[in-house]
Parts: sequence; structure tokens; C-alpha cells
Amino acid sequence: MLGDAIHAMPPMLGDGANSALYDAATLTSALVEGPDIVTAVARYEETMRARTYPLLVS
Ligand SMILES: Cc1cc2nc3c(=O)[nH]c(=O)nc-3n(C[C@H](O)[C@H](O)[C@H](O)COP(=O)(O)OP(=O)(O)OC[C@H]3O[C@@H](n4cnc5c(N)ncnc54)[C@H](O)[C@@H]3O)c2cc1C
Repeated sequence: MLGDAIHAMPPMLGDGANSALYDAATLTSALVEGPDIVTAVARYEETMRARTYPLLVS
């Protein structure tokens, strides 16, 4: 999952679209780097959470 489906941004934060695009790029890179889907998705989720959750609690 990515974008608002996993971290719905408050409209006034002004970072929802950026975050969704960044998620897509991060997931794509992880899948390209492999070595397998499970590892790639786990790495994507770790990166996405570290970047996005601070925005949601700020
Ligand atoms: C009023 C308002 C103002 C905002 N202002 C800003 C702003 O200034 N700057 C900013 O960065 N962000 C802003 N946001 C937030 C931003 O719009 C979202 O964070 C961003 O669009 C999330 O992108 P997304 O691709 O995750 O989801 P979405 O843009 O919601 O895209 C999801 C898509 O999936 C489709 N879909 C849903 N269910 C299904 C299904 N079952 N089958 C097929 N398709 C489906 C939907 O129709 C939709 O097209 C604002 C949001 C709101 C509500």
C-alpha cells in the first residue's frame, strides 16, 4: 500500500501528493533492487514509515 491508503494526510499539511509520489518511487526502487518481493516490500515499508509518520504527528 502507498499514499493516502496507508497514511492519509490532513489536506492542509500540503504533503499528501508528494508523499504518495515518493512512496511510488521508493517502492519501485526497492522492487528493482530486490532480491525478492518480500524483502523489497519490507524495505519500502521501513523507509516509508520513517519518512511519513513524523509528518503525521507534527
Ligand atoms: C481538500 C484537499 C486539499 C488537499 N491539498 C493538498 C495540497 O495542497 N498539497 C498536497 O500535497 N496534498 C493535498 N491534499 C492531499 C492529496 O490530495 C492526497 O494526499 C493525495 O492525492 C494522495 O494520493 P493517492 O494517490 O494516495 O490517493 P488519491 O489521490 O485519492 O488516488 C486514489 C485513486 O484511486 C481511485 N480508487 C479508489 N478506489 C478504487 C477502486 N476500488 N478501484 C479503482 N480505483 C479506485 C480513486 O478514485 C482515486 O482516483 C489535499 C487533499 C484534500 C482532500
